[in-house]
Amino acid sequence: MKVVKDISEARAEIKKARTAGKIVGFIPTMGALHAGHISLVEAAKKQCDFVAVSIFVNPAQFGPDEDFKKYPRVFKSDEKLLQKEKVDLIFYPSASQMYPDNFSTYVEEALLSKPLCGLSRPGHFRGVCTIVAKLFNIITPDIAYFGQKDYQQAMIIKRMAEDLNFSTIVKICPIVRESDGLAMSSRNVYLNPAERKDALVLAEALKLAEKSIKEGQTDAVKIIEEMYGFILSKKTARIDYVEIVDAKTLQEVEEIKQKVLIALAVYIGKTRLIDNVVVHAKSN
Ligand code: AMP
Repeated sequence: MKVVKDISEARAEIKKARTAGKIVGFIPTMGALHAGHISLVEAAKKQCDFVAVSIFVNPAQFGPDEDFKKYPRVFKSDEKLLQKEKVDLIFYPSASQMYPDNFSTYVEEALLSKPLCGLSRPGHFRGVCTIVAKLFNIITPDIAYFGQKDYQQAMIIKRMAEDLNFSTIVKICPIVRESDGLAMSSRNVYLNPAERKDALVLAEALKLAEKSIKEGQTDAVKIIEEMYGFILSKKTARIDYVEIVDAKTLQEVEEIKQKVLIALAVYIGKTRLIDNVVVHAKSN
């Protein structure tokens, strides 16, 4: 496994792999790796001959009051985990490599970025699209792997890749959860023991909503109301949003007749967590 910090070194490694006729798989991450990230690596290992992982805490996707400074940075243990997975390349650039002083070009998806996290994190998806576009240009992957944990992000990246004619295929992999149901996240380390218990409310609220839909409930407002009550029964919980949207367009739905995304963002104490589930309406 090679670890490279320079863009030119990364390009050289990719060139070697390409010359050897290898299919290149790529997983962009911000590090502090957990089993969710590793599931993406495993998917890539199955389908590709050369697997590259980037580790970069991207300043452009954090708002001024967000956790950029305190985001966990644990490169040595990330490196060990990826070595065990027999990853071929870690690209671990510095912020000044990715955003030199004269940097002034950004990539913005203008539709799917608007609702859900787009409302509470202005500029977030612009930062995400910009870094992913740059990484796609550096790594030129055949296939890139993203997690459903960040459903909206994955949909936006898919759209960006199509709109800007990247030749990369974007694959979305299932959410990996702790044994009690909490979606794995690098931010879970911020939770104290009481908050960790309350954090289960995200997955449980989604289960409740899924059950309602499976039982034939089609009124999105009623389901959301039920979820609100359930979530707010936890002392440390504060809701950012709870939404039921069309799974393709991310537009709000009132009557559930199709495949929908139930998505939520909830602060547990000071930690903002997200989770989601895709549900097919009960067929009549
Ligand atoms: P991050 O390091 O948070 O930027 O995440 C890197 C990639 O891992 C993104 O595509 C995430 O959606 C994905 N990911 C994060 N958490 C999970 C999880 N619990 N299950 C599956 N994929 C995940």
